[in-house]
Amino acid sequence: MTYDKNNIFAKILRGEIPCKKIYENDYVLSFYDIKPKKKIHALIIPKGEYIDFDDFTSKASTNEINELFKGINVVAQRLKITNNLGNGYRILTNIGKDGGQEVPHFHFHIFAGEIIGKMVV
Ligand code: 5GP
Repeated sequence: MTYDKNNIFAKILRGEIPCKKIYENDYVLSFYDIKPKKKIHALIIPKGEYIDFDDFTSKASTNEINELFKGINVVAQRLKITNNLGNGYRILTNIGKDGGQEVPHFHFHIFAGEIIGKMVV
């Protein structure tokens, strides 16, 4: 499977489609999900062209991987949802058809602002 440069998050990264930005650095971009499934529903994506978790973890540099995980923490602090600033949150990534992935650019969902509920429904 090759990376689709016309996926919606690639367009957001190129500035062709707007997003409600939460945080950005040289490696990651975080923005609110267009159809929030919880009171707070953010996304964080690497700026590199990675299709999913497996593509990212097998091909990305240690620095890119580090920056994505650090980025989640920065976003959680900005949104005041860490366990010390707020009430916690859930991160989730869908992989492929069975995982329910719709956008083929690797991303983590960040859900918060209310009790998220069951792990899987
Ligand atoms: P997936 O199912 O791939 O894990 O999640 C993709 C997410 O991207 C969905 O929650 C969907 O609402 C969100 N999404 C799709 N298109 C857009 C868009 O144009 N802008 C934003 N901010 N989110 C989008």
